[in-house]
Amino acid sequence: SAKAEGKGRSQIFHAQMDTEYHYRQRLKADLRQAVVGGQLHLAFQPLVDLETRKVVTCEALARWTHPEFGPVPPAVFIPLAEEMGLISQITAWVLHKAVEECARWSWPVAVGVNVSARDFRGIDLPVLVDLALERSGLPPDRLEIEVTETAVIEERDRARSVLKALADRGTAIALDDFGTGYSSLSYLSALPFTKLKIDRSFVADISVNPRALRLLSNVARLGRDLDLKVVAEGVETEAQLDAIATQTSVQQVQGYFFSRPLSAKDIAELIERFNGTGTSQATTKRING
Ligand code: C2E
Ligand code: MG
Ligand code: MG
Ligand code: MG
Repeated sequence: SAKAEGKGRSQIFHAQMDTEYHYRQRLKADLRQAVVGGQLHLAFQPLVDLETRKVVTCEALARWTHPEFGPVPPAVFIPLAEEMGLISQITAWVLHKAVEECARWSWPVAVGVNVSARDFRGIDLPVLVDLALERSGLPPDRLEIEVTETAVIEERDRARSVLKALADRGTAIALDDFGTGYSSLSYLSALPFTKLKIDRSFVADISVNPRALRLLSNVARLGRDLDLKVVAEGVETEAQLDAIATQTSVQQVQGYFFSRPLSAKDIAELIERFNGTGTSQATTKRING
């Protein structure tokens, strides 16, 4: 009967929830140890300039390999870290590790670091950035801080002062996942962003849906009008790349088409391969500019 079926379904649902709950509890219990015990590492994904076809930035992405469960995605453990008050420690670690790797690259490619809403309160981000840059010898314009709309809205006043302090140092400030949050737009001019990363949901359909392409094109134009570097995220196919290159004013692309996030060793090789060949004058061109 429908009733029995409903009951069966709800039992399955509860069993799933139970498993999910215990999984999360386990992850929470283990995350603290993972942070101090070196179970985290970084992956790097390139952002490619469309004009020069060179790598201009690599985004650092946190990875956790759980000893029992294997890889745990950041979409799972970053929110847990935020809940547990561990995010500042992770951000500090990512920042140091990211600039350390960046300083080793054979071309003056920048490195992107994601920060959370809580990082606007939990730590003195500008001081942390100064320390990391000083230690690595990296100039401030080789670092890009990525922040989401949601983070900016949650901590509006703190975000404003922290981002301004970072921008004053010459560090790039990227608005990440643009278009997925509240999109109130007013903060686009109120905060010192230098880069707009348009979320991959705006890219997904562009090669099959002309309206999706026009939407991306107009969002890109909005960014260009505000003197922002405009990036399209989640470019997976050549058809998407071609549409972006020929029909939008997007300047940089990121996505699986060029490369998945790679290990520190592999990204160094990719940069060498991408930027070290050809006769493009991009190699001498200032990045972030
Ligand atoms: P994000 O900052 O927007 O990073 C881009 C995400 O999109 C990455 O997922 C990347 O692997 C994925 N991606 C890149 N190209 C493609 C593509 O062509 N197709 C698809 N489907 N996906 C693509 P990842 O590494 O799983 O990270 C997810 C999110 O977790 C990040 O989104 C960021 O918000 C957060 N995150 C990652 N590392 C950190 C960190 O160190 N600190 C903080 N606060 N957040 C982090
Ligand atoms: Mg990001
Ligand atoms: Mg993003
Ligand atoms: Mg994203």
